Amino acid sequence: MKLDIEFIIYSVIIIFCLIPLYIYRKEIYSKFSKSGNIKIFIKDIDAYLSLHYPKINFDFSNILKKVEEEKDIKIKEILVVEDLVSQFATYEYELTTQTSVSRDKLWSSYDNNSKLLKDNKFPIDWNQRKEAAWIRDKNKCNRCGTKIKLIDSQALLAKQMRNGGGFNLENIVILCSDCARLVRTSNIEKTSRDLLISDRLMKQVKN
Ligand SMILES: [Zn+2]
Repeated sequence: MKLDIEFIIYSVIIIFCLIPLYIYRKEIYSKFSKSGNIKIFIKDIDAYLSLHYPKINFDFSNILKKVEEEKDIKIKEILVVEDLVSQFATYEYELTTQTSVSRDKLWSSYDNNSKLLKDNKFPIDWNQRKEAAWIRDKNKCNRCGTKIKLIDSQALLAKQMRNGGGFNLENIVILCSDCARLVRTSNIEKTSRDLLISDRLMKQVKN
């Protein structure tokens, strides 16, 4: 009988000790996961980038070495993201003329409106041209390969108007907003600080 009472007392004590563990399980888990595996994070980011930015060849070969000194997993992950965003921003790319669209997909005023206009004006059917180029490029950015909605896409001229480039579809290149900003900027470092890709990758970092 005495043993039974002792057993009950110890059981109750153990249960009371376990209750906070249960209540604070999330906090406890996140504390332990702070020393989590950076390799898994890099693998996930690699898969994400291959899917969403298939045209950029991200280099993961030295990335582990670059962050090995850092102990905190969250800072490690942020450093990885910063490195990848910098790779995205400095990826070499040049605007070039694109493939033609078959004539049956063009409209009657197409040829006439392809010519340059006075005062660098854009033709009246510019939106139609942008949409035709966006469809030709399968709704993807020409530089990074990310999928974009028509409304979020930017149409740039491969050969500038000042160099005699016209509005024919071969001269229209479709880019995502990040790539358009990078192509236009004279300060890549400053522009790369607030790119969409940075926000997207930072969402993968542990809180
Ligand atoms: Zn892009």
